[in-house]
Amino acid sequence: MQTEMGYIRNALERSNVERETATVAELAADPSALRLVFAGDVPVLRVEGEALSALLPADAAALPAPTEQVFLGRLDKRPVIAMQIGEAPDLFRDESRFRLIDLRSIAVQGAVPLEQQGMLAQARSLLLWHGNHRFCSKCGAPTVPAVSGLRRDCTACGGLHFPRTDPVAIMLVSQGDHCLLGRQRHFVPGMYSALAGFISPGETLEDAVRREVLEEAGIRVGAVRYVASQPWPFASSLMIGCLGEALGENLTVDHEELEDARWFSRDEVRRMLARTHPDGLSAPVPMAIAHHLLRKFAEGGEAPA
Ligand SMILES: [Zn+2]
Repeated sequence: MQTEMGYIRNALERSNVERETATVAELAADPSALRLVFAGDVPVLRVEGEALSALLPADAAALPAPTEQVFLGRLDKRPVIAMQIGEAPDLFRDESRFRLIDLRSIAVQGAVPLEQQGMLAQARSLLLWHGNHRFCSKCGAPTVPAVSGLRRDCTACGGLHFPRTDPVAIMLVSQGDHCLLGRQRHFVPGMYSALAGFISPGETLEDAVRREVLEEAGIRVGAVRYVASQPWPFASSLMIGCLGEALGENLTVDHEELEDARWFSRDEVRRMLARTHPDGLSAPVPMAIAHHLLRKFAEGGEAPA
């Protein structure tokens, strides 16, 4: 199992992407171009020894024409193209040199090198955004990809549409030797995690943390401290991890949002991380930022990440 957060490292050079004058088709025709192909939601990867990696130009001949195609940047000077296809041809399902594996499992297992997980997340979020923005939100006319797929332009009113990232606050609030964790209904049995919620328009990160914890658990939060962030490509979120100071301990759990929420001692959290809790309770896997917020608390709160 991977021990580091997923999707946080991205080896792509993408600072100059907007200045590239070539079209996506021209970049894709480069004999060194790598392809990050998604069949529906699932990456189609090449088996390279113990790890999985992007498809090579020679693999592309067997692929159907993509419905979306985006230039992501350059990896060791090679253009990297994200491609959306419907279904993967049998060749990619049957041959042992290829593998289809979902993005979440890739990060849980560490199936793709850490430095390449970021560009997979980038590809997934951008391809989804294209698929969901075929029409102009100002006038309703069709939009077309522009700037190598990093923007969509309206064919009627000239409106320019840019990919969005949705900020999500994820917070571990604590008081003394106890921290507050919750369970959503879709979690695997026994797992508790940090509370989280989308940041509202016009709201600071700190206020989003305070509002979410008050709404979901009835606890007022004082000081809030940013810890780290993680791209979360389901679909285009950025998880912004914080620690917060609880100002009370009497819970009022919103059971519409959470199946359960309760306080856990530092010792219990250590056991949940180690998967040795006597009641079988567990923490999220290491690829998720919540795991690292819990680890920070378990180690005493102030140790560097
Ligand atoms: Zn328009």
